[in-house]
Amino acid sequence: MSDDGLPRNEALGLQTLAVREALPRSQYGEHSEALFLTSSFVHPDAQTAARRFAGDEEGFLYSRFSNPTVASYEQRLAALEGTQACMATGSGMAAILLLAMALLKAGDHVICSQGVFGSTVNLFGRELARFGVQTTFVPQTDVAQWAAALRPNTRLLFAETPSNPLTEVCDIAALAELAHGAGAELAVDNCFCSPALQRPADFGADWVVHSGTKYLDGQGRVIAGAVCGRAAPIRDKLLPVQRTVGMSLSPFNAWVVLKGMETLGVRMAAHSAAALSMAQWLQAHPAVGRVFYPGLPSHPQHALAMRQQKAGGAVLSFELRADDAQQARQRAFHVIDHTRICSITANLGDTKTTITHPATTTHGRLREEQRQAAGIGQGLIRLAVGLENIDDLQRDLARGLDSLG
Ligand SMILES: *Cc1c(COP(=O)(O)O)cnc(C)c1O
Repeated sequence: MSDDGLPRNEALGLQTLAVREALPRSQYGEHSEALFLTSSFVHPDAQTAARRFAGDEEGFLYSRFSNPTVASYEQRLAALEGTQACMATGSGMAAILLLAMALLKAGDHVICSQGVFGSTVNLFGRELARFGVQTTFVPQTDVAQWAAALRPNTRLLFAETPSNPLTEVCDIAALAELAHGAGAELAVDNCFCSPALQRPADFGADWVVHSGTKYLDGQGRVIAGAVCGRAAPIRDKLLPVQRTVGMSLSPFNAWVVLKGMETLGVRMAAHSAAALSMAQWLQAHPAVGRVFYPGLPSHPQHALAMRQQKAGGAVLSFELRADDAQQARQRAFHVIDHTRICSITANLGDTKTTITHPATTTHGRLREEQRQAAGIGQGLIRLAVGLENIDDLQRDLARGLDSLG
């Protein structure tokens, strides 16, 4: 396989990297990324095989931990995130588990935002607790509470910004400083923004985790994940774990996401413009109370968000005006059920707009007081704005909003 031939002495823009970084080319000169759908690789002789297995010579061995298509996915994503390296995983959750297995041991302590993805809460709060890793959950935006939670055995701070569904933004640079001052590391889940809008490593994050399932693919086709960070710990800490446990990304899924990444910059700009327009339109609607979107000047962390992010992203939430929780839920269901274009699903990161009632779906397993504490009311609706025409989407929501009793 030949080099991708990019001018390495020039700083290339995100869309150039998204299209051309790590474009592998075999002897056939194919123009589109080749898909190496193979479990293992053949060696020319026993001596070469021995050298490759010992790590004395470059070469692909076995697709649990080394495959050319997956390597291209890793190299392209690292280039987009501005990190030295990346390790692909079979899902976003596998990425977080791989990072935890590589960095933590029984007796270690983690500080995690309360605003992270539900399965991340379960992973740290329940599954890793069984292996002796303790986690303290703290409010997303209050750095003082993160500081107060530090212990001598704190090894990892874990954040996700903006949060789901209320789009709370945490200060990555402040958390990185806090972590480093305490001899710990900061990991940021960058699913919602993708590197097209936010590069956590630029603000001092040591690790960036991804669900490639979301905006990296961008078309809702496959499950994928990745951990981005410095080359040495990825080689020395993550690779041995991945080689042993095999939370691997399928070459086919890597290939699909590689193709998705080609349009990442233009998609995220279009998603963000549509979401901002939708947020402004919703804010002006009489049936709507608060709108949560980092791109709105009314957002509590708007200034911070605009320092950290190039744009607000695709995801927003809004609260319907109502007299009580029962009426709020009724109204939310009315609006959701009157859409004809939006998909009623908890997924996001797709060209298709999705509409969700968090209180009864993504956050349905929380107890009512936990939900209240998280600010997820019965009148809250989350939208992940897709790439349909914005006028059509606004009419789709107006159908329900304008007919509320
Ligand atoms: C979807 C998601 C994950 C988990 O990713 P999977 O690929 O579904 O395992 C993690 N974090 C965030 C923010 C997500 O949206």
